[in-house]
Amino acid sequence: MIPKVFWRVALTTVVVGLIGCGVEQGLRSGNDSQDFQPGNISGADLPDRTLSLTFDDGPTAATLPIARFLETRGIAATFYVLGNVAASQTTTLQKLQKMGHLVANHTWTHVGLDTPGNLSPYEEVARSDRLISPYVPGANFLFRAPYGAFPAHLADHFNRSGLSKYVGPIHWNIGGSMENGFAADWACWQSYGLSIDECARRYLAEVRYRRRGIVLMHDNHAETEHLTKRLIPWLIAEGYRFVRNDQVPGIAAKLRAGGASPGAGVRPPFNPVQFGCPAGSTGGVSRANGHYLCKSGDNAVGPFSPAMRTACVNRGGGNVTCDTDRWGWDFALKIFNDVH
Ligand SMILES: [Zn+2]
Repeated sequence: MIPKVFWRVALTTVVVGLIGCGVEQGLRSGNDSQDFQPGNISGADLPDRTLSLTFDDGPTAATLPIARFLETRGIAATFYVLGNVAASQTTTLQKLQKMGHLVANHTWTHVGLDTPGNLSPYEEVARSDRLISPYVPGANFLFRAPYGAFPAHLADHFNRSGLSKYVGPIHWNIGGSMENGFAADWACWQSYGLSIDECARRYLAEVRYRRRGIVLMHDNHAETEHLTKRLIPWLIAEGYRFVRNDQVPGIAAKLRAGGASPGAGVRPPFNPVQFGCPAGSTGGVSRANGHYLCKSGDNAVGPFSPAMRTACVNRGGGNVTCDTDRWGWDFALKIFNDVH
């Protein structure tokens, strides 16, 4: 499926450029209900230094490591999953939801909706909808078309066929092209043979140039896990904030008008006070391994509940870190309840 992407993206870039004004008008006026739009929706209306991360074509083995990495930094992302891949991995969908990420619809087989496939365009979306619906908090149903290809007549067709609960198609404005020294992750690995570092620097260059937007990446590539881990700390250091796709203003307005709750299920950043960190200490994320900890200067400190001591302190060498990758948020809350 991926080789088609190159010319698709090139074509889409031209099409979006031509119809861009129409898309913006659609967001500002006319029908504000929650439904499919005839043109792609981008994140150009985000506030300055605000990004919305998206990962397409999973889930794969890279999905949960990416999700956990982002969770430890208080970042909620949007995962546009393929139904036929996710069908055997509903536990992954459940975990994504529990971490505060948004599971979204990217069709069943990743067929371009402008080309004939085994399933009708409606079935491509509806079958995935039946699979992912239980894992979408607050009725925040979002759709992204494979290759960004969405014939305008499908909007009406989908809205009349019971899929009007979806807002889409959601596009991107960062990460779609290798032009101008920027990058698209799949092309970094498949077409250009770039290093993780070089690809990450190209993403950073585009973020600095646009300053806001929906970022496209693909969690069906193992390299993209490492790209994420390289890029995100740079963006945090430069003061960028992150929201889920359903929190992008134009998308959130559409969802709200349809009765959804944008941002539902997003976890607040880790709170050291709630976690039982003692007065005078600070809490945060370990630079070494990304785990939560209470610290005073360079030292991890207590006191902790008996459960916390067992789980965290006794993990060895007096290393008082609590590995939420291993113990999960629910366990952290249980410790909070023990302490208080
Ligand atoms: Zn895709």
